[in-house]
Amino acid sequence: MLARVTGHQLRLFNSLGRRIENFAPSADVVGLYSCGPTVYSYQHLGNMRPYVFADTLRRALRWKGIPARHVVNITDVGHAVADSDTGEDKLEVAAVKERRSVEEIAEFYTQDWLDALAALNVQSADVYPRASTYVEQMIEFAKRLEDKGYTYQLPSGLYFDTSKSPGYGTLAMMDIEGQREGNRVEIVEGRKHKSDFALWRAEEPGVRRIMRWNSPWGWGAPGWHLECSVMSMTLLGDHFDIHTGGIDHRELHHVNEIAQSEAYLDDGQPWVRYWLHNEFILLDAQKIAKSAGHTLRLADLVESGYHPMAYRLFLLGGHYRSQLDFTTAAMDAAQATLRRLVARVAPLRPFPRVDTLAAAVSLLGIPVDATGAAIGGDAAARGATYDETALAYIEAIDAAIANDLATPKLLATLQDALRDPDITPDGLKVVVGAADALLGLRFDDLEPAEVDQRRPTADLSPEELATIERLIAERTQARKEKNWARADEIRDELDALGVQVTDTGSGPTWQLR
Ligand SMILES: [Zn+2]
Repeated sequence: MLARVTGHQLRLFNSLGRRIENFAPSADVVGLYSCGPTVYSYQHLGNMRPYVFADTLRRALRWKGIPARHVVNITDVGHAVADSDTGEDKLEVAAVKERRSVEEIAEFYTQDWLDALAALNVQSADVYPRASTYVEQMIEFAKRLEDKGYTYQLPSGLYFDTSKSPGYGTLAMMDIEGQREGNRVEIVEGRKHKSDFALWRAEEPGVRRIMRWNSPWGWGAPGWHLECSVMSMTLLGDHFDIHTGGIDHRELHHVNEIAQSEAYLDDGQPWVRYWLHNEFILLDAQKIAKSAGHTLRLADLVESGYHPMAYRLFLLGGHYRSQLDFTTAAMDAAQATLRRLVARVAPLRPFPRVDTLAAAVSLLGIPVDATGAAIGGDAAARGATYDETALAYIEAIDAAIANDLATPKLLATLQDALRDPDITPDGLKVVVGAADALLGLRFDDLEPAEVDQRRPTADLSPEELATIERLIAERTQARKEKNWARADEIRDELDALGVQVTDTGSGPTWQLR
């Protein structure tokens, strides 16, 4: 029995090699770096997934008693429009458009992003370094690459020669020649291979950038990829354990980070051991992307009456490596599940703090040794009494999170525990506390009334109100004619408008979600 609670080996899917691997920390404190936002506009919903994912990873490490130091960068310089090596900087374009200074733009959108993270109950990183404050270190880094012969200079800047990097593209698992020659369309005069990328972007003749630094390669700004290598190594050491990001970074940005970092270190060791990537959110079967014109934000969801925790629950309801379809129906389901969960757990409060597996088994009355593993032997022999049902759920929670952060399984386990008649009230509190230490859904303080915020109908314009009433009348008529297909169609239309119809004995009623 007790052997089961010593804990499951934490296993993570490493993009480097595309396989599930045992996670073994290489240091007392695990270094964790997550690519952060470029702060030139609001972050859309899809862009929040990497941070909820990284937060889940941090909670999993904590659960396993593994301390971590988390760094998330803020890109306030160097990210060119269309992720290219030349052309205008995203921040500078936004500053001109919004008639604000670059600093104001960066400050405003950084704060908006931090507010959204807080609303999603994402724990703060240990450091949020800003790229613009690390430019001197980036110049030194590029100089060393130049000294080692990895670079060449063009009028448009200093370029990294990817043909000099023996393992180039391993992370992307691409055909190297294909990656080098065929993948990208941007034409850069004089560039030797299409995969070569800018370490330094020199000012074009006659164009003075707003954010500019002097360098051995002229006035200009650093390339986008350089900042993550420099800030992560400065803050976490030359080598660290885990680097995370959205899957779009796996094919280019992270490939280039690895190439320049391993060239810089030149020690024959992999720069970072574990690369973890979250999948996209799909909106109408398309990636939510600012370039596609979609800018659906967390604030938009809240305005429509959804709680931020419902979006977190929606994300955790899928595995981080699965694409998730963002639809109104899926958000409604998440909101309804959250409402039910909060109503169920609220009367059980307060919960004990159960951040670690060791704490969970200890709270259940099982002795733990100094390493946090449960001591062997059977309970009856020790004369100990504890809730074996609760222990089985703790064991299942541990198995789920250790299995590459299987949050859907963890949620299902929690639901089972909440329905189980055999669990003791104290045992259930430990299970709920443990589940929420990993899920972060605020079961300890979220009020049922807070979850159930509906948009008042008074917010509707007369046109919206007329449309809704017309659709309700058409649906009533369709039902009278037993035209169920048409009635369902109209219900979908109403659903898309955020209208929830309920049929009562005296006809249909409706409210806004
Ligand atoms: Zn990055």
